[in-house]
Amino acid sequence: MQYVTLNNGLTMPQLGFGVWQVADDAAQAAVETALESGYRSIDTAKLYENEAGTGRALAASGLPREELFVTTKLWNDDQGYDNALKAFDASLDRLGLDYVDLYLIHWPAPARGAYVETWKALERIHSEGRAKAVGVSNFTAATLDRVVEEGDVVPAVNQIELHPYFSQEAMRAANARHGVVTEAWSPLGQGKDLLQDPVLGAIGAAHGKSAAQAVLRWHIQSGNVVIPKSVTPSRIRENFDVFDFELSGDDMDKIGSLNRDGRIGPDPDTLG
Ligand code: NAD
Repeated sequence: MQYVTLNNGLTMPQLGFGVWQVADDAAQAAVETALESGYRSIDTAKLYENEAGTGRALAASGLPREELFVTTKLWNDDQGYDNALKAFDASLDRLGLDYVDLYLIHWPAPARGAYVETWKALERIHSEGRAKAVGVSNFTAATLDRVVEEGDVVPAVNQIELHPYFSQEAMRAANARHGVVTEAWSPLGQGKDLLQDPVLGAIGAAHGKSAAQAVLRWHIQSGNVVIPKSVTPSRIRENFDVFDFELSGDDMDKIGSLNRDGRIGPDPDTLG
């Protein structure tokens, strides 16, 4: 496993396990498989309705809490200072934890006009030690700038849609300017067209690896944190098995040139 160091000194595994669109019971089984396979970082959210199942898997693993890195997120309906504090307590309760490692604002939802005061609540949660780090998700350059200007704490992470068809170079640079780590959601492009791309298949095959493994390796060598999702045990293990090979500069350039601004998910300027 490789780690990144966040701007508050906390270390975060560069590869984690995402559980979006996994029902609560299935999430428990999938997270247990992930932990057995070596993953130590888990990415959930209130929206996913599987914090409880995730928490059960963490407890059942018997792993020491300090070996785990748990992320959850505040949903848009819970924005606002007081609402955010309450939503955080409820998430901790469902997870069965007394702290999370990373708490994120899920979307800026700019039409609500509440993300700055929401951020102040996350700063308070952080100062109380109940989130070891706080960050944002789906923040644009403009919404990130505003939080940095008006807040006391710079977000540790910005979790954004990012894969070879949507490589987000400008947003990665905007994050880097503030010392914010870029975390890639849907790193495999949700397993759709991207993984059928012949360039990725060929690069993977040349290293004795799959297209998915080539993509995850590209993220890691690019410096992104990645959180691929699967409920299939063999794929959960496959996605973790990316630390025994290295892409060449030429491989990296070829994957980098696949960008087609192919956003899959919602536009952060309008969702909310
Ligand atoms: P992903 O890019 O991780 O793709 C997952 C899908 O790819 C799987 O459902 C499966 O169909 C396929 N797949 C996985 N491993 C494979 C393999 N080895 N070979 C072939 N196919 C494979 O998509 P995702 O779930 O959207 O994103 C990952 C995580 O990111 C989520 O689970 C969630 O934790 C997070 N996320 C966050 C946001 C946000 O707004 N912050 C949005 C979406 C996702």
